[in-house]
Amino acid sequence: MTYEYEVVVVGAGGAGLYAALEASKTARTAVISKLYPMRSHTGAAQGGISAALGNVEEDLPEWHAFDTVKGGDYLTDQSAALLLAEDAIRAVIDLEHRGLPFNRTAEGKIDQRRFGGHTRNFGEAAVMRSCFAADRTGHMILQTLYQQCIKNEVSFFDEFQVLDVIIEGRQCKGIVVIELSTGEIHVFKAAAVLFATGGFGRMFRITSNAYANTGDGPAVLARRGIPLEDMEFFQFHPTGIRQMGILITEGVRGEGGILRNSSGERFMERYTPTLLDLAPRDIVSRSIISEIREGRGIIGDGSVDDYVHLDATHLGKDVIEAKLPDIAEFCRTYQGIDPAEHMIPVMPTAHYAMGGIPTDMDGRVIADKNGNIYEGLYAAGECACVSVHGANRLGTNSLVDLVVFGRRAGIHMREYVEGAVIPVVGKDAGNEARHFIEGLRQRSRGIHGGYIRQEMESVMMEKVGIYRTGSQMQAAVDTLKDLREQYSEAAVQDTKNRFNTDLLEIIELRNLLDLAYITACSAHNREESRGAHYREDYPGRNDEGWLKHTLAWLEKDSVKINYKPVDISRWEPKPRVY
Ligand SMILES: Cc1cc2nc3c(=O)[nH]c(=O)nc-3n(C[C@H](O)[C@H](O)[C@H](O)COP(=O)(O)OP(=O)(O)OC[C@H]3O[C@@H](n4cnc5c(N)ncnc54)[C@H](O)[C@@H]3O)c2cc1C
Repeated sequence: MTYEYEVVVVGAGGAGLYAALEASKTARTAVISKLYPMRSHTGAAQGGISAALGNVEEDLPEWHAFDTVKGGDYLTDQSAALLLAEDAIRAVIDLEHRGLPFNRTAEGKIDQRRFGGHTRNFGEAAVMRSCFAADRTGHMILQTLYQQCIKNEVSFFDEFQVLDVIIEGRQCKGIVVIELSTGEIHVFKAAAVLFATGGFGRMFRITSNAYANTGDGPAVLARRGIPLEDMEFFQFHPTGIRQMGILITEGVRGEGGILRNSSGERFMERYTPTLLDLAPRDIVSRSIISEIREGRGIIGDGSVDDYVHLDATHLGKDVIEAKLPDIAEFCRTYQGIDPAEHMIPVMPTAHYAMGGIPTDMDGRVIADKNGNIYEGLYAAGECACVSVHGANRLGTNSLVDLVVFGRRAGIHMREYVEGAVIPVVGKDAGNEARHFIEGLRQRSRGIHGGYIRQEMESVMMEKVGIYRTGSQMQAAVDTLKDLREQYSEAAVQDTKNRFNTDLLEIIELRNLLDLAYITACSAHNREESRGAHYREDYPGRNDEGWLKHTLAWLEKDSVKINYKPVDISRWEPKPRVY
């Protein structure tokens, strides 16, 4: 079938829903989502959303913006950080007015807690900036926005998975989609298309990300010649449940939780004496690995099975059950422990993509270093790179990114499509995707996709993880090249039409492989250490050579790299100490 809408939004997480909410005020808007909207990964966000409300202690948007820039190791575009911090206040109050049930202070104001890297007065001490609804903030955001979209009569196409984008020259004309319940291919024509498909942590073996986080949006666009920005920066969150990666929110440390090594020492005193356990995530993750490498992990042989403890026992059962109920439940379910009585075994887990589809501050997709754009093509949320998180995102800054930049993209699309005509697309628009799917279906013998996926996850974890070296990354690039070739022989065992998850996993694997390849190539190319990209063979930050964004184009068997300047209009880069 062919559908026509003025605005099509791909993704029903926080970014997609906010954009749809704004666009649908005047434009006919559809949301396409491979998941039922409430299952979008935003629903897993636990700790909170940052805004300098100053409800609990003094705070200013300027301090928030500065922390975002310093947290991003000065790769953050500073105008975007200032906009984010200033608009965060309006955004949080707006969510509250739309019905989001934030926790409250005794006076009835929105309550706030500490989070890593958020400070008062340009780094003096940790500040309470994260607004939260227990440890279910993302879930509440999804509920609130979905209800508002229904009110605005947004059309939802649930369990429709985007396979391709239709772009002619620099003009986006629509998307190609597979309907999961029938296996039918549809074309959606639209004057404006927004990609808000979330993250791609699934390219790593241990991750906090859901199975659906396979980076479909950036991969589809990369295959159509759109560059991806700063893909070398992938964040490891310090506290995933050991060996599983399920997230234990930074909110635990925000409430006073402490990281301890095998002798019970609060080891962050050695690395970041001012912010301690609430230093930014890149630094805390590296500190944990250093403890383990130096034999102070639990078990203690320096192997990958070593871990450290997150101690919340002193917080008391009442605080844990009231403010961190889901975390308490995860500990009981996955570790068989009560965090009020036992320390939690944790290890860093692949968590968040700082890089993605390059956009301007209105969500328009950028084509090159001069800022030229694709007409009618937008991106927002974790799949986009504004770039407001630079080389390392601060905790609670993603949810605010979704609602600030998702909203701006929605407003821009609404205005852009006014008077615009629905583009004409050729009859063959969906044919390439159709042939691809048919090709997969016909290949019932060949390499099992699960094998390729495991190899990819391991090589990314071991060679493009927290600590990196040139030779390891070269080996990763070579392996990924090889896996991409093997993919052309990957077999699909189930050839039916209805809810064919075998087929869908193979489709998603291609997306992960392409993004892993771009990530490894971009990381190998950057010969310095900055934020989440730490190279043991280039341990220092090199502003002279590398204070620039990477733009990476996926070519047939290689990745072409160019650069884009960083906006440093407000704060000169300084050494990053906490
Ligand atoms: C466990 C966890 C806890 C977190 N806690 C916090 C926190 O406390 N504070 C904070 O600021 N950040 C947090 N984050 C980060 C934050 O939650 C995410 O970055 C953010 O929610 C991503 O939102 P999104 O709208 O970009 O994408 P998502 O919410 O992931 O939504 C993606 C949407 O795209 C759709 N989609 C994907 N591919 C396709 C396709 N091919 N076709 C159609 N639809 C598609 C999906 O169905 C889904 O609807 C956390 C992350 C994790 C993993």
